[in-house]
Amino acid sequence: MVAINTGYLDLVPNYLFKDIADKVKALKAANPEAEVISLGIGDVTQPLPDACVKAMQKAAAEMGSAETMRGYGPDFGYAFLRQAIQKNDYADWGIDVAEDEIFVSDGSKCDISNIQEIFAADAKVGITNPVYPVYRDSNIMAGRKITFLPCREENGFIPEIPKEKLDIVYLCSPNNPTGTAFTKEELAKWVAYAKENQAVIIFDAAYKEYITDASLPKSIYEIAGAKEVAIESRSFSKTAGFTGLRCGYMVVPKELKGFTPAGEEISLNQLWGRRMATKFNGVSYVTQRAAEAIFSPEGKKEVAETIRYYMDNAKILKQALEDMGYKVFGGENAPYLWFKVKNGSSEEFFARLLNQAFLVCTPGNGFGSEGEGYIRFTAFGTRENTQKAIERLQKVVL
Ligand code: PLP
Repeated sequence: MVAINTGYLDLVPNYLFKDIADKVKALKAANPEAEVISLGIGDVTQPLPDACVKAMQKAAAEMGSAETMRGYGPDFGYAFLRQAIQKNDYADWGIDVAEDEIFVSDGSKCDISNIQEIFAADAKVGITNPVYPVYRDSNIMAGRKITFLPCREENGFIPEIPKEKLDIVYLCSPNNPTGTAFTKEELAKWVAYAKENQAVIIFDAAYKEYITDASLPKSIYEIAGAKEVAIESRSFSKTAGFTGLRCGYMVVPKELKGFTPAGEEISLNQLWGRRMATKFNGVSYVTQRAAEAIFSPEGKKEVAETIRYYMDNAKILKQALEDMGYKVFGGENAPYLWFKVKNGSSEEFFARLLNQAFLVCTPGNGFGSEGEGYIRFTAFGTRENTQKAIERLQKVVL
């Protein structure tokens, strides 16, 4: 037997999601004919853009020929993809990010949970409540203490600037689960806080394509000085249907510095590069070609159509809930809707919805204590299922 990392013992067991799965399974067993529809899934339902499929077919054929096959790729991603990201996701938006600040990865979950490795074990971490649980759990595994930043209706679900000094702060915009997004002014306050406190912000922009209000920032680097304090994580999962294909990237600016115990300055870009080169062997060539195709004219058009499709789902779901008298947050710049139940707890609402309408939702308390009393719906279903879900919602007593 070997002594274990006790950080793992501090994790709160994820009973809730297992419990949801068990309840859905039991309902299906008792009602084999029932068509259960999920408004809880955080996964996409629309196929990959055709441009990506074609790019993969071409790349697969290249891999099948001795002249064009590729072995291990560059540690931080092929130049063709890093350049496409640099141009389309930053330069075209007037944002200064260099190719060697972009690290291509197999998705945002890994990046966001791995990045904490380059920081001190006793770094003080700030995490919102409710939250995408990966930020919290990856830091608990590393044995860090966490300060939770409540996001409530009173503060518009935007965390307030803390009085204490934190070293690392995780921010997500547009937000999972609350569906809300930071304004430039709100984000600028966090950038100023990070500068004042020598903190680093890990900015999760996995849902940036869902922002429809042009005044809202899609990148933290739209805020002056943010490159000195922020790392940005982005994903092709929810943008272009890559949840099963796996590709994303993280930007670690060269301006961003840490310090050694001796007080010497050290580049976080360099540290993250070292970490990637040591522990990661790159995303497959075929996948990177698919990701590059997202930025082709056809790819862009298809991505925009899919996002519109999901956002139309969000709109009709939001309207239906409002007609039922719910105050609904999100759904305008994010594929998530967040609303407060009228009677009882999140889990009681979940049970009523499941048993009366065969609809699955996500109880808000699964994202943290501040989520208690709330429900998350997603817009990632098919239109047909979204319409059916609304018809059923209108018939139930919740
Ligand atoms: N960040 C947020 C806020 C998410 O909701 C998700 C997935 O649901 C991710 C990151 C993970 O994305 P990826 O599929 O790129 O790992």
